[in-house]
Amino acid sequence: MVGVGIAVGRRAPQEEGHVQIQNLIDGAWVGASDSSSLRVVNPARDEVIAEVPSVGVAETRSAIDAAWRARVAWASRTAGERGDLLSALAGLMHRDADRLAALMTSEQGKPLAEARGEIAYAASFLSWAAEEGKRLTGDIIPASAPDKRILVLRQPVGVTAIITPWNFPAAMITRKLGPALAAGCTVVIKPSELTPLSALAIGELACEAGIPDGVVNIITGEAGAIGDVLFDDDRVRKLSFTGSTRVGQMLMSKASKNLLRLSLELGGHAPFLVFDDADIGQAVGAAIACKFRNAGQTCICANRFYVQDGVYDEFAARFAEAIENLTVGDGAREGVQVGPLINDAAVEKVESHVADARSHGAKVTVGGKRVHPKGLADRFYAPTLIKGMTPDMVLAREETFGPVAPVARFTEEREAIELANASEYGLAAYFFTRDASRLMRVAEALEYGIVGANDGGPSTAQAPFGGVKHSGFGREGGRYAMDEYSEIKYISWQL
Ligand code: NAP
Repeated sequence: MVGVGIAVGRRAPQEEGHVQIQNLIDGAWVGASDSSSLRVVNPARDEVIAEVPSVGVAETRSAIDAAWRARVAWASRTAGERGDLLSALAGLMHRDADRLAALMTSEQGKPLAEARGEIAYAASFLSWAAEEGKRLTGDIIPASAPDKRILVLRQPVGVTAIITPWNFPAAMITRKLGPALAAGCTVVIKPSELTPLSALAIGELACEAGIPDGVVNIITGEAGAIGDVLFDDDRVRKLSFTGSTRVGQMLMSKASKNLLRLSLELGGHAPFLVFDDADIGQAVGAAIACKFRNAGQTCICANRFYVQDGVYDEFAARFAEAIENLTVGDGAREGVQVGPLINDAAVEKVESHVADARSHGAKVTVGGKRVHPKGLADRFYAPTLIKGMTPDMVLAREETFGPVAPVARFTEEREAIELANASEYGLAAYFFTRDASRLMRVAEALEYGIVGANDGGPSTAQAPFGGVKHSGFGREGGRYAMDEYSEIKYISWQL
């Protein structure tokens, strides 16, 4: 275990065994003023792997002070200079990909191959934003008077609070950090208390890349206490939050005090539709990737499957076989495809959803119970297939966030669209068909921010990622992300 107070931050980040456990405020690595700390636990082994500071009001204010002081100089740099620093950070993430992936697996549990994939994905947001910042252009609009000119500028929003979840400990940060920094904002990042090490490691690389002191600040600690300081300080002008709908709603009301700009990336409940004319092999492959990545703990993972009568039996049989072949275990072991759930509460939630489905008459045909890989924690749930899902089951209404695939039949296209849209969430939806007319019709009818048409993996740096309804608002990725971190200023110029 790495203890609070050890000045490990002075060693080179790439040095063997190095883990940064201090907070980053104004370019310095610091602990909590009262020495309080949070334990970071490896979910697969239930072992404490590090302790990080649990900071409070004073440190949160210091982080805001630093971001506030740094903002004018950072915004004054050219977009090219900011882009170069973001590109350097992306390069360092690639250089240290193996180390960062191992760290992520140890605190989050996802298989190493997925963690490596996440590091590359996380770096891609920085690289994209590094270029896109150069295209953050304004307008000159023809005026209505001959002696006037209308100029429209884009300027940085200012100090931005970034609050992120535990399921993608690196990518959820860089998806915000890239466009925020590219647009000229400075940031205070509060990662999930469950996965702070990946965030601190990125902070360390940001320092190595040469990003100036105070531009990126990272603090760890009790979420409510830190949040209250962030929302109370009118120098903070924006909150970019990714997490649950429940917390997002609460933060939205707190953010109203200072009328913060908001980007809210919230929960999902993705439907996955398979039509009679689908390529079943393609649909099964996508269903496995989309459902079981990160043990089902992703906001866009398929949460409910609707399969048309004509292909139901074939899809269910091939899906069952593929699920049975998944390897469950410690994500640190090469070849493991499904790791642990993040904590005991997550396993209990999955169990309660499966028990509810059983009590409503569903049939569990694969899995449906915990598994106990030797020597590991009791946090592994078998990849599960459930047949006979009905709308009254919790599985059909709520985000399960676990490796459970409930399947139901449908007959008509219209019925499938109604089932898919019968949710308060609107993040991602998937469907499989080889009929081009149906493809466009269904894509347009789905009330979701992201639609995977014959595609189970739509996330990528250049595309807009975000939801509608209770999945939140705002878009991350691509040129759209830049709008979230820039204000429009209109200059009316009389000659
Ligand atoms: P969560 O419980 O809502 O927490 C998210 C973040 O908010 C964490 O950093 C948490 O801190 C912090 N937080 C909690 N209460 C707070 C408060 N009062 N003030 C300030 N911050 C507060 O979500 P989670 O369990 O970490 O993540 C899973 C959820 O995220 C799922 O619903 C998933 O769908 C959603 N998600 C959405 C997207 C998307 O792009 N739409 C992507 C990934 C995940 P602590 O962890 O330290 O308590």
